[in-house]
Amino acid sequence: MSEKQFVKSITSRDEDFAQWYTDIVTKAELVDYSSVRGSMIIRPYGYAIWENIKAELDHQIKATGHENVYMPLLIPESSLQIEKDHIEGFAPEVAWVTHGGDEELAERLCIRPTSEVLFGEHYKNIIHSYRDLPKLYNQWANVVRWEKTTRPFLRTLEFLWQEGHTCHETEADAEAEARKMLEVYASICEDFLAIPVLKGTKTEKEKFAGAKHTYTIESLMPDGKALQSATSHYLGDGFAKAFGIQFSDREGKMQHVHQTSWGFTTRIIGALIMVHGDDRGLVLPPKVAPTQVIIVPVAQHKEGVLDFAYKLKDQLGSQFRVNLDASDKKPGWKFNEYEMKGVPIRLEAGPRDIEAGQVVLVKRDTGEKIQTPIASVEEKIGELLEDIQDNLMKKATAYREDRTKVIQTYAEFKRYYEEENGFAQAMWCGKRECEEKIKEETSVTSRCIPFKQEQVADTCVYCGEKAKHLVNWAKAY
Ligand SMILES: [Zn+2]
Repeated sequence: MSEKQFVKSITSRDEDFAQWYTDIVTKAELVDYSSVRGSMIIRPYGYAIWENIKAELDHQIKATGHENVYMPLLIPESSLQIEKDHIEGFAPEVAWVTHGGDEELAERLCIRPTSEVLFGEHYKNIIHSYRDLPKLYNQWANVVRWEKTTRPFLRTLEFLWQEGHTCHETEADAEAEARKMLEVYASICEDFLAIPVLKGTKTEKEKFAGAKHTYTIESLMPDGKALQSATSHYLGDGFAKAFGIQFSDREGKMQHVHQTSWGFTTRIIGALIMVHGDDRGLVLPPKVAPTQVIIVPVAQHKEGVLDFAYKLKDQLGSQFRVNLDASDKKPGWKFNEYEMKGVPIRLEAGPRDIEAGQVVLVKRDTGEKIQTPIASVEEKIGELLEDIQDNLMKKATAYREDRTKVIQTYAEFKRYYEEENGFAQAMWCGKRECEEKIKEETSVTSRCIPFKQEQVADTCVYCGEKAKHLVNWAKAY
């Protein structure tokens, strides 16, 4: 297959963004579709990306004092009913198990859509005194939510995630925990995945079912739509009261614990694809890339070329994630294949390079080719990987800034979303009706009340009454 034909097989991003996304997830071999609508098979390359994210996040979760546990997959219906807001929020998406073999169950069991209930029942059994607090648990698991429309990674019936569930003596401790974990998520997005995020609080309308406050990080995709990248909730003592999680405090009085929950999912891989990808395929930030350097030998049948390539692989392998493609496919095919897979650096070495004591390094983000003496190749690769990581973050940040607009009037707001897409920063009075009307008329939702507040106008963008908060608005995934 010629280079041109190969590249043509991905739809251009500007031409059809949704098709471009679908092409990448399948052609870069991240997923395959399964026989159940909306379920995906995460293939080795896609799973390796998740494993890298998981390793980094798990490290940070443990470094902040949390322990991993595992809860069951099934929740009895009666347990799910205990917290009213929670069940109301999740009921439409719950999948039920009704039979064991041929026998109908006396009570339906739900497949966990999230595990607040299971943690609640467990905490009731193991927390008795302030000495048992805080309890800082996390689990890595799959959950099922019966979504109507689905897309690989972005919205699937089953997805992978971690869910943290913690119990604290006081509201202040639990609030601090919820905010701390949001910062951990923001750091994973920005420092590891090169995805800039906006941090803030969800409005009452958009918050998690059963939470007092939901904190969120929101990122902006290249089509101008926002993607909720992770959330962290302060649950108050509502679940504790519903489940009876009590402890005797330092004065010997019985109190209910204050709880948090927080989750980070495989959905972020969808953001990773969209934020950095281009018309040649995936572009992976070096920190998360399963392969950081791909060695492609040129004229590998010539004497010494493959030996040289294998030696180089061993040498670089102690510092970087390196692979060598010594298959009999043409170098041009290999170049395209690893561009499609978003490998940050391609290293080319042919007989002439070897003779000259050099190799060629090609950066995936810019396509720039750099001839490098073999003696300094490790140093140069280290430098380039850092450079690519920074460059991707800068590019994504510049794009977001370009597509964030401060808006004062509703006329301007409507025009903005008719003509383009992006974040709008506009004032809001705090009333749910205004949010609902805006959504109805423009499909735009409040993404968050940013922690960094500014008074960009005195009145609500919709109703003209006195403004309470600056809100970040967008159409969303
Ligand atoms: Zn209003």
